[in-house]
Amino acid sequence: MSSNRDLMYIKPEVQNVMHRLITAKVDEIIPIIDLNASEIRYPILDVIGLNSMDAQILESMTQVGILEKSLYDKLLVCPTHPDTLAVTLRLYCPKCKSFDVFRMNLVEHKLCGFIATKEVFENNKLVCPSCNALIKDQKDVSFPGMWYECKACKGKFDAPTIMLRCRNHSHDFTMSDAKKIDVHSYKLNKEAEKEFYDNYILVTPLRKLLEPFGFKVEAAVSVNGKSGVNHKVTLYAHTSDTKIVIDAKTAEAEVPDQFLIAMFAKVIDISPKLAFFVAMPNVSENTKTLAKNYGIVVIEGKTLQEIMNSIVENLKSKLNLQINDQCKITVE
Ligand SMILES: [Zn+2]
Ligand SMILES: [Zn+2]
Ligand SMILES: [Zn+2]
Repeated sequence: MSSNRDLMYIKPEVQNVMHRLITAKVDEIIPIIDLNASEIRYPILDVIGLNSMDAQILESMTQVGILEKSLYDKLLVCPTHPDTLAVTLRLYCPKCKSFDVFRMNLVEHKLCGFIATKEVFENNKLVCPSCNALIKDQKDVSFPGMWYECKACKGKFDAPTIMLRCRNHSHDFTMSDAKKIDVHSYKLNKEAEKEFYDNYILVTPLRKLLEPFGFKVEAAVSVNGKSGVNHKVTLYAHTSDTKIVIDAKTAEAEVPDQFLIAMFAKVIDISPKLAFFVAMPNVSENTKTLAKNYGIVVIEGKTLQEIMNSIVENLKSKLNLQINDQCKITVE
């Protein structure tokens, strides 16, 4: 596992983003581009209590390979006021600079060869003024010519001058002067998703659950034992007088008992009030018997919700925590 990624995973705000992405099965973090408000927002950040307009956390997660970003949009904005996104096109008459220009189309009725402007056909309710046949669809006509006309100077021209208009500050700028802003979407890297799921997925719901009782909850942390040796555990929740140690393992089928045995060595040295061995999906009967002898509570479950429910029940009965049912964390 990459250590750069681990440095990110231990940050609570990163844990919140990851937890949301994984449990809500968000495929891609898509921005909302609000031109009127001049905002590029990532609503997922709102959901977890961060500023949805500050994508810095997503960028940091991208730098260490947790997220993969792709170009979602490219905005052309005013070079003088790049913070305002409201930009529209304006077409100008190249002769008198009026923007009161309109496009003229020539239309030919294929059946009889009659040619007139589009307006002539439209004003005649789509009946050809020459042969009186009804024009049913586009296939009946061709467009042999197109140009622009200026209402102000009556000039005719092939190409108007195209300018971009800064709506909020009412001025024009050219396409080549426009500032380009790249807007990105983000996807969770599959490997990072597995790393996080295996090692950190319980930290967000447990923190919500235990912080109100004065616990500090840390993930992937080293805990100092009586012997002076540091032990890496999946989760460590502690107050001044209560320690809870959790090791979690995920496997395709039964989680092998070697992980429980490794945990036992840590538990003896740390001597927490409560030790949970979380196994997804389950362990063998033999592992359960071992755990009982070791004083370790085995938590099995196929889903996060099952595991959290079981942890809540154990915290209630073994630590006498007054967790009411509203405190149960819905993780899926
Ligand atoms: Zn401007
Ligand atoms: Zn003109
Ligand atoms: Zn005709």
